[in-house]
Amino acid sequence: MAIIIDGKKISDEIKSEIKQRTEKLFSEKSIKPGLAVLLVGNDPASSIYVNSKAKACQSLGFDSIVKRLPEDTPESEVINIVNQWNADPSVHGILVQLPLPKHINETKVLLSIQPNKDVDGFHPENVGRLVIGLPGFVSCTPAGIFELLKRSNIETSGKHAVIVGRSNIVGKPIANILYQKKAFANAIVTICHTATKDLSYYTKQADILVAAVGKPEIIRGEDVKEGVVVIDVGINRVDDPSTEKGYRIVGDVHFDSVSKKASAITPVPGGVGPMTIAMLMYNTLLSAEGVVY
Ligand code: NDP
Repeated sequence: MAIIIDGKKISDEIKSEIKQRTEKLFSEKSIKPGLAVLLVGNDPASSIYVNSKAKACQSLGFDSIVKRLPEDTPESEVINIVNQWNADPSVHGILVQLPLPKHINETKVLLSIQPNKDVDGFHPENVGRLVIGLPGFVSCTPAGIFELLKRSNIETSGKHAVIVGRSNIVGKPIANILYQKKAFANAIVTICHTATKDLSYYTKQADILVAAVGKPEIIRGEDVKEGVVVIDVGINRVDDPSTEKGYRIVGDVHFDSVSKKASAITPVPGGVGPMTIAMLMYNTLLSAEGVVY
């Protein structure tokens, strides 16, 4: 049976380290990390994410600003607010909650965030820094996956990492992290996507399998080899009339069959999920400490 990689426990360890460093930064330099979050519109899921980010700030001793704007806010106003935060020295991290309403050009808004405050790591400058191995902000979910592997002492050097999914927020950045010639990376990386003809052919070769697909339980026991390390990023809602809510959350990996063959696996929920906010807080702390740029 596989070791369960406990993302809740690891994220709690990281948050406790962040809290200590935050106290030190304040006592030595009177600096409090500040995170500013912008939410445009009324998307209920986005609203929950924004609230949990504000709560995390509070529990770690960060300053937080949450600005909620109506759905019909013009793009220029959104960019004006980002620019005010760019110029505000008490704001160390800026996050614009995605998705934005259709009339707002997401790329334009993300480009307006100063790279040294882009704690989500979505700005092309930070993406480019990751690719060429320079310090920069790494987007939070892939940074969280890297920490899970590192803190679980999983050997990556020379291992074959197969990533299913090539999104800009998960698949591509985790691939870029894992092939770097660096400690806890140095893997051989294969990326699969919808044009991959025989997905199972590739997943069966994986020493480390990262599933970031968004398809419930698409990867099953027969698709992996014995001893694989599995990181399941997927968060999928499936109908389940036997539960109170009428649904349950599952990953991209069929946990029961895959965990019988894997040496280690992240559960859903409780694996990658809790790491994302922890890494957002970590990036904001790094920005406040001034150690990235
Ligand atoms: P996207 O929809 O942006 O990307 C999905 C990727 O999977 C695409 O590259 C797509 O290929 C590929 N794909 C889809 N179907 C198949 C298939 N049948 N075979 C092979 N590849 C396929 O999703 P995200 O990366 O944003 O998210 C992936 C999952 O991770 C979702 O469930 C999401 O909810 C979850 N997530 C979880 C987070 C967390 O904190 N735990 C954070 C972010 C995401 P193509 O490029 O060809 O379309």
